[in-house]
Amino acid sequence: MDIDEILEKVADAVEPHRGGGKVADYIPALASIDPDKFGLAIATKDGACHKIGDADECFSIQSISKVFTFSLALQKVGDGLWKRVGREPSGSAFNSIIQLEHEKGIPRNPLINAGAIVVTDHLVENGDADATIEMLLRVLRDHAEDQSVDIDYEVAKSESETGARNRSLAHFMASFGNLDNEVEVVLSAYFRHCALALSCSQLARAALFLAFDGKDPVTGERILTPQRCRRINAVMMSCGHYDNSGDFAFRIGLPGKSGVGGGVLAIVPGEGAVAVWSPGLNDAGTSTVGSIALEALVAETGWSVFG
Ligand code: GLN
Repeated sequence: MDIDEILEKVADAVEPHRGGGKVADYIPALASIDPDKFGLAIATKDGACHKIGDADECFSIQSISKVFTFSLALQKVGDGLWKRVGREPSGSAFNSIIQLEHEKGIPRNPLINAGAIVVTDHLVENGDADATIEMLLRVLRDHAEDQSVDIDYEVAKSESETGARNRSLAHFMASFGNLDNEVEVVLSAYFRHCALALSCSQLARAALFLAFDGKDPVTGERILTPQRCRRINAVMMSCGHYDNSGDFAFRIGLPGKSGVGGGVLAIVPGEGAVAVWSPGLNDAGTSTVGSIALEALVAETGWSVFG
């Protein structure tokens, strides 16, 4: 299989759809992105990166960062994580508050906003959100083998300025005793990790360990146990796209995670990690063109975990 030839076919398949979907407009830095952008990168076991389009342009990874914080929290607290967050799909929007009251402040899963805020709380030690972000940046730069990975601080500032809903979620969970740190401390880390800016190439490389049982196939570094890696992939498959998770599994059949910056990360166990970016979103906040590209990629490669 010639991956570069397949990428040309994927680019042809998305061409008629370029610019489709609706670009997130809750903050100026996202609203001003050119909707025609499209990039895709595949990191493979031999350290190669196959790419097409705007794959080296950095974009706001937004909720895709929740995969990395989830992985770090599992490493830090192990199964204790599941005392404070569930692992069921929510069937609700990413920022929904509706289930939290019924379920006594325990969010459905680590990949919705409320769940990711709890996960971030686990990563904050001694009330020091700056140290959490420094640690996260160190880890991502190592995984991506690229020291230039960084946060877009303008996006982080806008996230905070428009963060009323995330503040509501956090205060609501705090009222049930499900946050150890001060709400503003946790959110200052959460807003910054949402504002991480990576290219498709950097993102695919950084997530490669998730396709190889938790071990980076290029450096040989074991990042997660195989069991925890499997569990992250399971939660990505069932919960990675909010109320669009079932449709994504149906169409693409890979563990994935979307972000409102238009990025989607998809894991192909035993093969590699795929990152695609196109800013226009569907109603659930998943990239419209990104999903079409992944559908075409899976059709060409047979990479769906369902065969
Ligand atoms: N920063 C956004 C938020 O917290 C992330 C949402 C997303 O990417 N789905 O609401």
